[in-house]
Amino acid sequence: MSAAIHNGPMPPVMPTYNRADLAFERGEGAYLYATDGRRYLDFACGIAVTGLGHAHPHLVKALTDQAQKLWHNSNLFRIPGQEKLAKRLTEASFADTVFFGNSGAEAMECGIKVVRKYQAVNGKPERFRLVTFEGAFHGRTLATLAAGGQAKYLEGFGPKVEGFDQVPFGDLKAVKAAIGQATAGILIEPVQGEGGIRPVPPMFLRALRELCDEHGLLLFLDEIQTGMGRTGKLFAHEWSGVTPDVMAIAKAIGGGFPLGACLATAKAASGMTSGTHGSTYGGNPLAMAVGNAVLDVMLADGFLDRVQQSASHLRQQLAMLTERNGDIFEEVRGEGLLLGLKCRPPNTEVNAALRARGLLTAMAGDNVVRLLPPLIVEAAQISEATQIIDSACADLRKQAQRKVG
Ligand SMILES: *Cc1c(COP(=O)(O)O)cnc(C)c1O
Repeated sequence: MSAAIHNGPMPPVMPTYNRADLAFERGEGAYLYATDGRRYLDFACGIAVTGLGHAHPHLVKALTDQAQKLWHNSNLFRIPGQEKLAKRLTEASFADTVFFGNSGAEAMECGIKVVRKYQAVNGKPERFRLVTFEGAFHGRTLATLAAGGQAKYLEGFGPKVEGFDQVPFGDLKAVKAAIGQATAGILIEPVQGEGGIRPVPPMFLRALRELCDEHGLLLFLDEIQTGMGRTGKLFAHEWSGVTPDVMAIAKAIGGGFPLGACLATAKAASGMTSGTHGSTYGGNPLAMAVGNAVLDVMLADGFLDRVQQSASHLRQQLAMLTERNGDIFEEVRGEGLLLGLKCRPPNTEVNAALRARGLLTAMAGDNVVRLLPPLIVEAAQISEATQIIDSACADLRKQAQRKVG
């Protein structure tokens, strides 16, 4: 883990990450090619970003075509790509309006402002607090860190931004107890990603919706990781039948081009008038070309059905795999292609063993290894991944025996 003070020479790249000693030159579909020529099956997808795999021809064409024409002109002017993407996102969701930014944390910041402003312009300026959940992750800006509430990320950065009341995951009584005169809304990820791939039961989401309606609060969903097809629906909350008032998306909406968005109902966004929010880059023509191209693919007939089929196939394979390797894995959890293997050995060791065998995965809290295959994953690649995981389990067993012996 991170030391309090950096020892040794300071590298030109600020050492805030714990990186694997591996670099890539090129990607194609579900595969990445390292600078040493080795091929890796990519079940990390840049943390759920490259949902359509690497170098998807439709995305490459959209980006390069736009690059020949116009990159950026700022929100001083109309941006036709924004108008088009916003219209498509609102037609495909609960929302009536969209703000474009460049990242997940920015989409969250916008959402927090939307919720607070809604209460303020509706005669309740004292309502500015959000109820959030333990284990949540909402980004690394000062407000989103406060929303996530993880002590290890907040430490040393001065007073925590005011206005977030954290309750235990899945505890409805605690939510009710946390709602007070200053509460403006409830913020939740439909499946906790960084927190360890913990799905929120549909019943719980429905109960939150009811509480919001009862108390005049807004329901704010963080679908940055769960959205854009990851669970087999365009947005994960669709499985529950609940609709939010505000939603943050990012990651796969740009397929690797930095793009985030805050979606809201007309009612929720009623205070977001000219001058209340802004971004220099947000929704620039390059980003909009890619975002629209991503939607072309994801909204095509049958795309999400295929994601659901791949997801249930992978889930079955992983269920059998965890049974065969009960000494390494405790369980498989998650929704759609947002899956986690709860490990018995440290997840860092499992992650490294998988990488050594050519499978890239991400880690998550609660000692989980996160599997985030591209949504275009094929059955043969699912088999390949399963075989690699089996071999890595055998490697881990040998390592453990060597330690003992
Ligand atoms: C990745 C993520 C974020 C932060 O997104 P950035 O683009 O890194 O700012 C916020 N919430 C969730 C659920 C995420 O997975």
